[in-house]
Amino acid sequence: MSKTILIVEDEPAIREMVESALNSAGFATALAGDASEADAAIRTASPHLILLDWMLPGVGGVEFARRLRRSEATRETPIIMLTARCEEGERLQAFEAGIDDYVAKPFSVRELLARIKAVLRRSSASDADAPIEVEGLRLDPASHRVSSRGRPLKVGPTEFRMLQFFMGNQERVFTRSQLLDRVWGSHVYVEERTVDVHIRRLRKALMPYGHDRLVQTVHGTGYRFSREP
Ligand code: CA
Repeated sequence: MSKTILIVEDEPAIREMVESALNSAGFATALAGDASEADAAIRTASPHLILLDWMLPGVGGVEFARRLRRSEATRETPIIMLTARCEEGERLQAFEAGIDDYVAKPFSVRELLARIKAVLRRSSASDADAPIEVEGLRLDPASHRVSSRGRPLKVGPTEFRMLQFFMGNQERVFTRSQLLDRVWGSHVYVEERTVDVHIRRLRKALMPYGHDRLVQTVHGTGYRFSREP
């Protein structure tokens, strides 16, 4: 399953820039403009990491980080703070609130991605990046490769995320709207038939070695990834 990163940032331009960089890097994203939107996004998206702006309207970033650390749901969730403030005292204040790392604005997208990957590596260490294999179909999250008994399969980025999600959640039916939330991110306003388009592409990509049969239509409901016919 592709990892979801929650971006809590009140400036739309920065939010969108970060979002598109993360999406291109294979992460799913959820967006929030303040702490209360972030609370809602945490409930629906269960993010693997939270990017938290220092200066937020209402509850500020540091205060919110403290709250996240106290909450059962987010106690272990890594937090990277985005901050224009570089004074040592303020950085320390943020670390004391429980953040894992910070990135000073203005930041380069490459640096941000490197920090995110490093923090995720530290936090999950092992199994999240382990390859998943079903009936010879193998998806390797670390190298972003899909293969069938050693033969490479060409899968687009959205189809890769979708396949990763399916392989991590086998034998369960998902509606188009659930797939949109989990594969694209709950903030994305795309039509449900977009899901069908990408399902078709995914099946086509899996077809050369017959794995397309794993991606099944459940009539009237949605889709399921299953070994059973
Ligand atoms: Ca801000």
